[in-house]
Amino acid sequence: MEFRIGLIRGDGIGPEIVTEAKKVLDAVSCAYGHTFHYTDLLLGGASIDACGVPLTDETVAEAKQCDAVLMGSIGGDAKTSPWYQLPPEKRPEAGLLRIRKELGLFANLRPAYLYEELKDACPLKEEIIADGFDLVIMRELTGGLYFGERKTVVEDGIRKAVDTLTYNEKEIRRIAVRAFDIARKRRKKVTSVDKANVLDSSRLWRAVVEEVAKDYTDVTLEHMLVDNCAMQLVRDPAQFDVILTENMFGDILSDEASMVTGSIGMLSSASLNESSFGLYEPSHGSAPDIAGKNIANPIATVLSAAMMLRYSLNLDQEADAVEQAVKRVLKKGYRTVDIMSEGCIQVSTIQMGDLLAKEIEA
Ligand code: NAD
Repeated sequence: MEFRIGLIRGDGIGPEIVTEAKKVLDAVSCAYGHTFHYTDLLLGGASIDACGVPLTDETVAEAKQCDAVLMGSIGGDAKTSPWYQLPPEKRPEAGLLRIRKELGLFANLRPAYLYEELKDACPLKEEIIADGFDLVIMRELTGGLYFGERKTVVEDGIRKAVDTLTYNEKEIRRIAVRAFDIARKRRKKVTSVDKANVLDSSRLWRAVVEEVAKDYTDVTLEHMLVDNCAMQLVRDPAQFDVILTENMFGDILSDEASMVTGSIGMLSSASLNESSFGLYEPSHGSAPDIAGKNIANPIATVLSAAMMLRYSLNLDQEADAVEQAVKRVLKKGYRTVDIMSEGCIQVSTIQMGDLLAKEIEA
């Protein structure tokens, strides 16, 4: 099959880790007989340097022509980079916010998976993680408290601030459908997280999720209050498959879940819209402190590419092959410096990419 893939190499370690992820995708195309047509897209600091703005209209138009976009990460050192002398709307991050908006990316998907070989990096006790865990957090990205009306006023000499948490049923339905679809590709369980004992928006959330669940009788649905979920993530993370939640709860819970895995260089993420299109990127930033040193861990970007194969290109077997390649390379003891431990073999960014590409087999 043929696909068009946009590549945003980005800033800092971005170009290095995207090159390695492309190497792995090339191995997939060879092994499975697909053709990937790549389009390089400029975003962030790289776009500021080339075009004077963090995102151009041409780049948006080109991204819309792609089946999916794979991104490294953007941004520089806020203290030393000239990009941060610019007004906020011209800085690298403004480009990222705009491309998410232009592409209608309303669903953010972040997996938290514990690799047997990296268990030592997990801050939880051995008895809690004995069986590992493998969950994803589906977070609503364009509604809720972060996008509601807000104001700060002075009333009778007292300062008062108001933020508004709004969701309509359409916004809830579309993300719930996404979560149930993804659960179908996994262990078929959705935990919808809300604060329905207090918030009206959560009561509507719960009601709409129940309605959507009627079309997915093969998927188990449970509801959990957000405070309980925050506890359960560190008490028994293995109970979760897909956690579905609104914007702010998801912001907090996804950071909690990723810290539980302990390895920032291993964490992938995806932002999806209503079609099969998605923007895939590692959860970490552009790590300017290690850029150009050939030591960055490319695995989070490689795993983001695996998510792209699964969720945008519908190539499940190929996604499995990439994920298995990561497991095999770790099992053989190869590590980049950030995940290095005693008795393992330390490799560079490029060597890790080569090892992963070599492990891809049809
Ligand atoms: P960061 O994630 O880039 O780095 C934090 C620490 O983790 C650093 O010590 C770094 O060396 C290390 N690290 C990160 N990724 C690594 C990898 N793949 N391999 C090995 N080590 C890795 O966070 P930061 O330093 O706060 O931010 C740096 C820049 O990245 C900032 O400009 C920030 O705005 C940007 N950023 C971009 C995104 C994005 O593109 N979506 C996300 C977060 C941060």
